[in-house]
Amino acid sequence: MEPKQLFHFNRSLLRSKKFLMGVGAAVAVVVLLLAIWLPAQQLPELLSMSDVASGITHGQITSIEDSLATGEMTLHYTGGRIAKALRDTSAPLVQQLSYLGISPQELTGVQIKIEATDTAMTVSRGIGTVLSVAVIAFLAFMAVRTLRTSGPARQKKFEEGIIPDVHFYQVAGMDENLQELKDVVTFLKEGDKYTAMGAKMPRGVLLVGDPGCGKTLIAKAVAGEAGVPFFALSGSEFVEVFAGVGASRVRALFEKARKKAPSIIFIDEIDAVGRERHNGSSGAEMEQDQTLNQLLVEMDGFSSTENVIVLAATNRMDILDPALTRAGRFDRRVFVTRPDIKGREEILKIHMQGKRISPDVSLSNVARATPGLVGADLANIVNEAAIIAVRADHSMVEMGDFEEAVEKNLTGGVQRKNSLMSAEERRIVAYHEAGHAITMHATRLSDPVYKITIIPRGAAGGYTMSLPVEDTMLHSKNKILARITGLMGGRAAEEIFFHDVTSGAANDLQVATQLAEEMVMRLGMDSATGLRVYPQQQGYAALAAPHNSQKTSESIDEAVKNILDSCYSQARQILSEQCAYVERVANELLEVETLSRDEFVRLMNAPILNHEAKLKVFNTVEIG
Ligand code: ADP
Ligand code: ZN
Repeated sequence: MEPKQLFHFNRSLLRSKKFLMGVGAAVAVVVLLLAIWLPAQQLPELLSMSDVASGITHGQITSIEDSLATGEMTLHYTGGRIAKALRDTSAPLVQQLSYLGISPQELTGVQIKIEATDTAMTVSRGIGTVLSVAVIAFLAFMAVRTLRTSGPARQKKFEEGIIPDVHFYQVAGMDENLQELKDVVTFLKEGDKYTAMGAKMPRGVLLVGDPGCGKTLIAKAVAGEAGVPFFALSGSEFVEVFAGVGASRVRALFEKARKKAPSIIFIDEIDAVGRERHNGSSGAEMEQDQTLNQLLVEMDGFSSTENVIVLAATNRMDILDPALTRAGRFDRRVFVTRPDIKGREEILKIHMQGKRISPDVSLSNVARATPGLVGADLANIVNEAAIIAVRADHSMVEMGDFEEAVEKNLTGGVQRKNSLMSAEERRIVAYHEAGHAITMHATRLSDPVYKITIIPRGAAGGYTMSLPVEDTMLHSKNKILARITGLMGGRAAEEIFFHDVTSGAANDLQVATQLAEEMVMRLGMDSATGLRVYPQQQGYAALAAPHNSQKTSESIDEAVKNILDSCYSQARQILSEQCAYVERVANELLEVETLSRDEFVRLMNAPILNHEAKLKVFNTVEIG
C-alpha cells in the first residue's frame, strides 16, 4: 500500500458519499419515471446474453428495460429494432454484463430501465419496489465498479497507458536484481541502436517473488525510468469469466500498447492464466487456455522492431506452462526476494520520506523486529505509525508509535502472522540451514555454498543454495552421495542441537529419496541391485506396467534405505565434529539473516576459539 493511501481513502470516501447520495437519488427518480411511463412490450425475438453484450460493445443498443423479477429484458436497438432477452435472475444485470466483458464505461451509452412487471401491483407498492430496486441496482453497480477497479483483496489500481512517476531509487534493497531490468530500460530508450546492430529486443521478463515484495513497483519503475507508458492487467481477472473474454482483453491490451510503443505491458499473477495445461475440458480451463494462447500469439507476433516489453509477475514459477518460459517469450527472470534486515531498513527509509520522524526512531531496530515481512507490510507499518502518532497527538512520529504499529501488523493479518516465525522457530531454522551449509562445505564433492538465508520463502523457513562451479554433464556416484549428505545436514543439525526433529526437512528428504532411487533404479549405482534398470512409472502407467517381483522390490527398498541412512550418519558425524562452526554460522544467521559465499567462507576460516569449542546442547524443545 502506498504511504498516503489511507488518508486518501478516507477523503475520497467522504467525497463519494455525497456523490453517491446525489447520483443515487437521480437514478432513482429516472428509473421511477421510466418504470411508470414505459410499459413492457411483448416481443417475439429472443437473444442470448452474449448477443446483448456484443450489441452494447458495438453501440447498437440504446436502452434496455430490465425486469428484475423475471429476468426478462427488452432491448432497443438503434434504428428502432426491438428484441427480447432472458437473463439469470440471481445476479444484477450490470454484473452479468461485466462478466461478459462490458465495462461500466461502455454502459454509459445505454439507458437501463428497471421495471416492476406486476401490473396488479398498487402504485404505492410499485413505487416502493422500484425505489428499492433502483437503490440495489445502483449499489450493485458501484460494487461492481469498485471491484473492477481495485480487486477484492488488494488495492491495486492500474491506470492504463500512463507513464508512471516511479523510479528505481524508490525501490529498495534489490540492487543486484535491478541490473537485468536496467537492460530493459536501455532497450526501451535506445531501441533503435540495438535494432540497427541487429540485436534482438528482450520480449518478456518474469518477476518471481512473494506477494508484496514489490514486483508491481519494479515494473512501474522500469516504465518510469524509460519514460514509456505502462499497461497492466491481472491474470486473476480471468479466472471466473465467461469464455472468450480473457483472450479478447489480452488482444485489446496488446493492441493499445503497440499503438503507444515503446511501452511496457505488465501482467500480474500470470500463473492464473499461465498454469501448466492439462487438456482439461472444464469451462474455466478452456477459458484459461484461450487466454494463454492469445498471450502467446501476441508475444510471438511482435516484430523485431516493435518496442513493447512484457513484464509478468508470479510467485509460482514452478506451475507455469513451459510454453511461457520458452526462448523469445518470458526467457528472462528476475527474483524479487523478501528483504533481509538491511533491505527492510532501506524500505522503511524510503517510506518515511516526507513524514515527520522523531530523532529517537531507530530504523535498524524496526527492521530487526520485522523478520519475514515484505515491502508492502513495511510501507503499511510506516503509515500506521504516522496515524498512531496523529491519534496520540504527538508532534512527530516516535519510536513508541512504530512499536505499536509493528505489533499491530504482526498480530493483525492471518497471512502476515504466518510469515513471521517465532523466536524458537527462527533458531531451529538457523541451525538447520547452518547444518546444510557445513555438511556441504565439508564434503569435498559438494557444490560450493553460495548463499544461506533464514528469510522465509514460500513454505520454506529458509534455504541454503549451492551452485556448481561449472556445468557438468556427468554426475558421479560420489557426487550424488555428497549431495544427499548435504541434504541430510539440516535434519542432522536439528537432531544434534535440539534433540528433536521438525517437519522442516520434508523437502530435503523428498529430494534425497528421489536421488537415491535414481541411483538404484536408473543409474545402476548400487552394488546390491546391480546394473539392471527398473522402470519407474507413476500413476496409471505404474498400474498397467508389469510389477517387479516381491523380492526385487524389497531389494530396491533396502538399497535406497541404505544409501539414505549412510548419508545421514555421515552428516551427523560431520556436524558433531564441527559443532563449533555450526554454532557460529547459526548465530551469525540469527543476527544478519543472510550470508553470502564470502561471508560464509570467512566464518569457516576464522580459527575456533577455546570457549567456542564446547558442544552446547540445547534442551529438548517442543515444536507444535
Ligand atoms: P507485488 O506486486 O510484489 O505484490 P507491490 O509492488 O504491489 O508488490 O508492493 C506493494 C507496495 O509495497 C509498493 O507499492 C511499495 O509501496 C511497497 N514496497 C514493496 N517492496 C518495496 C521495495 N523493495 N522498496 C520500496 N517499497 C516497496
Ligand atoms: Zn533443509
